[in-house]
Amino acid sequence: MEKAIYFDMDGTLANLYGVEGWLDKLRNYDASPFVEANTLLNMQALAHRLNTLQKNGYTIGIISWLSMESTAEYDEEVTKAKLDWLSIHLGSVKFDEIHIEKYGTRKSTLAQVKGGLLFDDNPKIRKEWIKNNPSGWACSEKEILIVLEQLK
Ligand SMILES: [Mg+2]
Repeated sequence: MEKAIYFDMDGTLANLYGVEGWLDKLRNYDASPFVEANTLLNMQALAHRLNTLQKNGYTIGIISWLSMESTAEYDEEVTKAKLDWLSIHLGSVKFDEIHIEKYGTRKSTLAQVKGGLLFDDNPKIRKEWIKNNPSGWACSEKEILIVLEQLK
C-alpha cells in the first residue's frame, strides 16, 4: 500500500444522515446539513493520528461528493459548507488534497496518489476503489481509528 489515506465525509466523518430533515433540505438546495452534521468519531484523536502519519510521509486527503441535486450555485454552497465543516472539526489537519466533486465521480480517479487507503461508508465505493487500486485498500467508517493505529 502507498503512503496515502483518503476520507469520505458524509456517513464516514460527518453524521449527515443524523441531521433532522437532511434529505428534504438537500432536495430544496439547502446546504446547511453539511455544516451542521455532528462528528462520527473522536476528532481530536483522529487529528492527532493524522498529523503524526503526515509527518511520517503519508499524504492525507478528502474525497467527497457534492449533493445529488446540483446547480452551479448550490455546488458552490455545498463545497463551502464542507470546507467549513473540515475547518471546524479538523482545523489542525492540513490536508494535502481536498476533492469535493460531482456526485457519482469514481473516487479512484480523483486521488493523486494511487494505491492508497480509502475510508468510506459506502461498500460500492470501497469496491470500486479496490478494483482500480490493486495495491490499495478500503475500509468502512467503523474501522478508522483501529486501522490508523496500526499504520507506521
Ligand atoms: Mg459517504
